[in-house]
Amino acid sequence: MENTRRNFLKIAGISALGFGVGSLVSATTQVEHEVAPTQQPAEHNTEKLPEPKPVENVKSESSTQSAVKTAGRWGMAIYTSKLTEPIRKKIISACHVTHNVPHMENKRHEIKWIWEEPYTHAFPENEHEYIDEKTHTQPFLTLCNHCNNPPCVRACPTKATFQRADGIVLMDFHRCIGCRFCMAACPYGSRSFNFRDPRPFISQLNMDFPTRMKGVVEKCNFCAERLEMGKMPACVEVSEGTIVFGDLHDPNSEIRHILKESYTIQRKQNLGTMPSVYYIV
Ligand code: SF4
Ligand code: SF4
Ligand code: SF4
Repeated sequence: MENTRRNFLKIAGISALGFGVGSLVSATTQVEHEVAPTQQPAEHNTEKLPEPKPVENVKSESSTQSAVKTAGRWGMAIYTSKLTEPIRKKIISACHVTHNVPHMENKRHEIKWIWEEPYTHAFPENEHEYIDEKTHTQPFLTLCNHCNNPPCVRACPTKATFQRADGIVLMDFHRCIGCRFCMAACPYGSRSFNFRDPRPFISQLNMDFPTRMKGVVEKCNFCAERLEMGKMPACVEVSEGTIVFGDLHDPNSEIRHILKESYTIQRKQNLGTMPSVYYIV
């Protein structure tokens, strides 16, 4: 009983961090939507939350990157050519297990936080007839770009999706009414809708992260719950150095050094969304 209560309190804490309490651990604790029907569409839901409390510089066990702290704007750089298939699979699995992402056999019901896309889909504007074979054929890892100018946030009528002061675009599942305006607004397909109750399709339940419910949208959260604990994102930890995560506002950060020294591309940069995910090609 005490254990159950501790788990509940832990998950409630994560929910308070901005993930909502739309669903906690089991179907028996399902929370109903409580969004007032009279809420007006937000002009721009860039809710600037209070600065997150500074955390101790705790280096996670398997991460080779420097310890995590708060950031002016979190960003990610991916070494695309170093990503072998086993590493890609490990990354996807780490993210999906950490966040209770269900595995749906039906592709139309698929829930994706990080997934593979062919170059032609990921970077259609960079496509040309003489592009080298390797770039053209290798799969790219794609996820929410945590855009600095996020159209999904502007489209959401309930502020269920919002942008934090450190740039992370989050979901409050409790507020989501499942209208899917955000999905229509996102030009990257980074959001998934729960057509079914996802809980029966979670192979390995992580009691430290809330599950979702039928009728809500979800996506990558840049591991905000791990950053809060001084840990690197789960995908970064298992990436064997192929993903670098850090503060884009800090000129001395590793990610800034990499961006200075390497040629990088971003997804659909011409749309003005200002992605925070960079691909080193
Ligand atoms: S990638 Fe899509 S879901 Fe993520 S912040 Fe940008 S517009 Fe929003
Ligand atoms: S589906 Fe998207 S736009 Fe609609 S309420 Fe949920 S987060 Fe907001
Ligand atoms: S940053 Fe976290 S939530 Fe986003 S893809 Fe990586 S592991 Fe998943």
